[in-house]
Amino acid sequence: MRDHYDCVVIGGGPGGSTAAAVVAESGFSTLLVEREQMPRFHVGESLMPETYWTLKRLGVLERMKSSRFTPKMSVQFVSSSGKESQPFFFRDHDPRECAETWQVERADFDKMLFDNAAEKGAECRDRTRVLSVQFDGDRATGVTLQSEDGSRHPLASRVIIDATGQQALIANALGIRREDPHLRKMAIWGYYRNARRDAGDNSGATIIMHTRDKQSWFWFIPLSDNVTSIGVVGDRDYLLKDRGRPADIYHEELALCPALEERLKDAQLVSDFRVAKEFSYSTRQQSGDGWVLVGDAFGFIDPIYSSGVYLALRSGELAADAVVEGLQRGDVSAEQLGSWVPAFQDGTRWIRQLVDVYYSDEFSLGGFLRHHPEHRSNLTDLLIGRVFHDGAGRIFDDLMPALEQARQTKVAAQ
Ligand SMILES: Cc1cc2nc3c(=O)[nH]c(=O)nc-3n(C[C@H](O)[C@H](O)[C@H](O)COP(=O)(O)OP(=O)(O)OC[C@H]3O[C@@H](n4cnc5c(N)ncnc54)[C@H](O)[C@@H]3O)c2cc1C
Repeated sequence: MRDHYDCVVIGGGPGGSTAAAVVAESGFSTLLVEREQMPRFHVGESLMPETYWTLKRLGVLERMKSSRFTPKMSVQFVSSSGKESQPFFFRDHDPRECAETWQVERADFDKMLFDNAAEKGAECRDRTRVLSVQFDGDRATGVTLQSEDGSRHPLASRVIIDATGQQALIANALGIRREDPHLRKMAIWGYYRNARRDAGDNSGATIIMHTRDKQSWFWFIPLSDNVTSIGVVGDRDYLLKDRGRPADIYHEELALCPALEERLKDAQLVSDFRVAKEFSYSTRQQSGDGWVLVGDAFGFIDPIYSSGVYLALRSGELAADAVVEGLQRGDVSAEQLGSWVPAFQDGTRWIRQLVDVYYSDEFSLGGFLRHHPEHRSNLTDLLIGRVFHDGAGRIFDDLMPALEQARQTKVAAQ
């Protein structure tokens, strides 16, 4: 290993591997470090169609097409009363191949991107943890690595990209991470074989199902080998309060979701239950002199619309472009490395807003669409992940007043 790099990328998830591939391909010396052994398990299997463009740029589309990953052509919602929405088929909105995507086993998907970064010229090391980032005043100047045998290696870098996911190494060290008080959620999930899927083009759909009292919702994500990822998400206070073990809480919530119980009639649980907490947060600052944040280390909204991997790929790509330009010009200031951030935040606020709508008890998106069928196409666009263009948030011109009215009606009735 050298003792100086142009760029060190911390974290070998989708965000880090994308950033490392793009910087390395431009000819700059790039080190990508991952603390775990690759391939490693990760939650978050459902992709958004807009991942297409970054996957294309990375040169991995053909590998995706010939993979065992499940094609995902639609998203569907089931209401608290068990009523199924029409599937939102992406191709009804856009017939091009970029409107379809995949449900992926993250261990395989992330390993493919990690290997791709190496093919593009990055030096990739797994089982190597970054213990700390060194600063000279406000400027990041290097990192200290720890290998599996415990040995430590300080090294210098002109730029550091933090892609450490929920670990959020730099944001935690600088105290710039802030939890979203409205989204204090947690998730409990497991994997089932033989869960009932729909036939035909909806067979690979992500299905989002509300429980009877809308206190929680389940995701249903069909993977390969007839395995389905099924998880419940709800307020931490609600799911944790006097409720026993995760498996018990999960089954109690499942009993409140007959539509899902029906799909699991002939299914077998093939994993332990896993738990994730404290996953929605943002950061007050996303770049500094010599450093920039991408993916979950930048911030994370909520898993309901499966936007996490897409935003990790996209931010990884945008940050890497800014890093390459900065290295070429000899400008690795906060402004240069974060030049893409305002436009990125502008687009992601639509996903944030759609999350708020889903969690507002008094409102039914299905009911809204029946009154405003003209917005179905705009909503499909958001579910595809097309949030970075003018007019992406058109639906909210009518949706927010309707939501406000529903809130006032509820207050008046109390
Ligand atoms: C319950 C739940 C369900 C989700 N469902 C979906 C979904 O269906 N679809 C979707 O798109 N997204 C989903 N997500 C979000 C998705 O998992 C993340 O957004 C995505 O993994 C972010 O990618 P990343 O590269 O930023 O971080 P990660 O994929 O988390 O990668 C970060 C990597 O950094 C490594 N690392 C951390 N610290 C260090 C260190 N100090 N040194 C070296 N390496 C380090 C970690 O080991 C890890 O491999 C879900 C999230 C949750 C919590």
